[in-house]
Amino acid sequence: MVVTKEEKLFFEHLLTLTPQKHNGYLVFYFRRKKYKRSRVLMQLKLNKILEMWEIVHHKNEEKTDDRIENLEVIDVSVHNSNHHAGKRYSK
Ligand SMILES: [Zn+2]
Repeated sequence: MVVTKEEKLFFEHLLTLTPQKHNGYLVFYFRRKKYKRSRVLMQLKLNKILEMWEIVHHKNEEKTDDRIENLEVIDVSVHNSNHHAGKRYSK
């Protein structure tokens, strides 16, 4: 699904907040909900609302390194099998 104008403004607003650390990731809290910074950035970049099974993976395995070039979208089943194959992916 495409990012609507409202969602775009909302994501851009989230990015003005100070991120908190949660399970090693940088997240934003807004109205009791939690948003992963990496996911917000990727959705804005792709102009697409990611599906639940689409995981934003940190290529260098540094969970706080949300530089766009460090992020890639991987299907959750592929992502999990990579993790289970003993690669040191940490999401
Ligand atoms: Zn990963």
